[in-house]
Amino acid sequence: MLSTMQDVPLLISRILTHGSTVHGSSRVITWTGEGEPHRRTFAEIGARSARLAHALRDELGVEGDERVATLMWNNSEHVEAYFAIPSMGAVLHTLNLRLPAEQLVWIVNHAADRVLLVNGSLIPLLAPLLPQLPTVEHIVVAGPGDRAPLAGATARVHEYEELLDGRPDSYDWPELDERRAAAMCYTSGTTGDPKGVIYSHRSIYLHSMQVNMAESMSLTDSDTTLVVVPQFHVNAWGLPHATFMSGVNMLMPDRFLQPAPLAEMIASERPTHAAAVPTIWQGLLAELRAKPRDVSSLGQVTIGGSACPPSLMEAFDELGMRVCHAWGMTETSPLGTVARPPAHAIGTDEEFGYRVTQGRFPAGVEARLTGPGGERLPWDGESAGELEVRGPWIAGAYYNGPDAEPLRPADKFSEDGWLKTGDVGIISPEGFLTLTDRAKDVIKSGGEWISSVDLENALMSHPDVAEAAVVAVPDDKWGERPLATVVLKEGAQVGFEALRAFLSEEAGVARWQLPERWTIVETVPKTSVGKFDKKKIREAHRLGKLDVTKLA
Ligand code: ADP
Repeated sequence: MLSTMQDVPLLISRILTHGSTVHGSSRVITWTGEGEPHRRTFAEIGARSARLAHALRDELGVEGDERVATLMWNNSEHVEAYFAIPSMGAVLHTLNLRLPAEQLVWIVNHAADRVLLVNGSLIPLLAPLLPQLPTVEHIVVAGPGDRAPLAGATARVHEYEELLDGRPDSYDWPELDERRAAAMCYTSGTTGDPKGVIYSHRSIYLHSMQVNMAESMSLTDSDTTLVVVPQFHVNAWGLPHATFMSGVNMLMPDRFLQPAPLAEMIASERPTHAAAVPTIWQGLLAELRAKPRDVSSLGQVTIGGSACPPSLMEAFDELGMRVCHAWGMTETSPLGTVARPPAHAIGTDEEFGYRVTQGRFPAGVEARLTGPGGERLPWDGESAGELEVRGPWIAGAYYNGPDAEPLRPADKFSEDGWLKTGDVGIISPEGFLTLTDRAKDVIKSGGEWISSVDLENALMSHPDVAEAAVVAVPDDKWGERPLATVVLKEGAQVGFEALRAFLSEEAGVARWQLPERWTIVETVPKTSVGKFDKKKIREAHRLGKLDVTKLA
């Protein structure tokens, strides 16, 4: 029997129309670095998105599912692009501005982007690449920055504001199939080549509802969220869409992502929520310790993208900013789990133990663990295996060009269609996920696994350690052993013996897991989205570039 319910497609244009009318007075606030931030209401964003869509269609000839790329910071024009492009039926392609040049070129060509929106401040990055981007016919420039480097471009160059000028404030958004492509994002390639994930209108719509749920980020129109996570990093974790659904104000840092301006925007705009990867918060913490600001408005901070060290969580708790840990990936839109303790643990000694897990699965994400021999493992809080997930906002394949079959590599998708995350962990009977490592980072020592993340967290809880990354290095006897690379806090003098003793005596690390190999580094190399770049550390070690001390 079929249901008797209406079959209305779940579309981005619906989110836009809803946000810009029902929540028309909510705002996108963009930091400008000097003077007043720039403020635009959702109603204005709605009208400007319509104008942008008219311009793209009538002036630049965008039709069908053509890709329109953005090379932009987090700001209100980027939000307009987020809504205008998919709502008119085209595909938004956000470009990660921190990728190495050759990867950016590869990605633009792979997606065959014909129109590219760029922030003026990013022209120096784009201009030298243009000769290698034959598909790009139109460049639309928004915001301040010298246009001169675009002078010789073969693509036509337009000014964003001039393009919008005088166009209608409304657009007859087409009723699309909700399964059509809305946006695409390439994984940042922490492990291997970038892979294109294409989100549908339906997947983004459902994901946005989950983001707002009380068990996830719990955002309403009384909140302002500081969106530090870039709009090119998995749709800023879904926040631009989720905020338009619920009227949540957005505070956008534009290019001011350094700790000092972030601290200033928190103190002056008083956001209630913020989202970013751990490295951003490490930097902010040091800044706040050096120069305290009033950050008391930030009741909730969502941290994900890599494991949040428990020491960081405690430090933020002391400042009154409650960290909520979450796990996800480009392929999962990204919301996979959120670590909100269950009711029975709140206020008890168990609470912190729940908060440091990666979190609990929502109804929309099914999970299972697979052991090394392909066997299904139980949710018993002990059996460690590779996490596989399935659900309406989880990727089932990668983009392989407009006319090609999507890619389903066997190391990424199971035969029955589940996404193999490459993350290794355990799941408790209550559905809380604890990741022990990435499959590629785990240290395989004499047939046993050592979690690099556990060692890093233990090291980073030492008062003299600013940052620490642990990687597997080849070892004649054990196959692999851990190498600890440590960044000391300014002026700190602690030796390797003392650090090793701390790991074993204070942090409870088992003796056989204690690293013998140690090195001091100035910084831990980071990927384009701010994660520890362990590929680079392993490479530096392989080339003999690290000054390694081997303890007896
Ligand atoms: P990339 O794979 O290029 O790093 P993603 O941003 O998609 O790009 O990264 C997803 C991966 O990040 C996950 O598979 C996982 O390894 C890691 N990750 C994300 N959130 C967490 C977290 N809270 N704890 C540990 N690892 C995390």
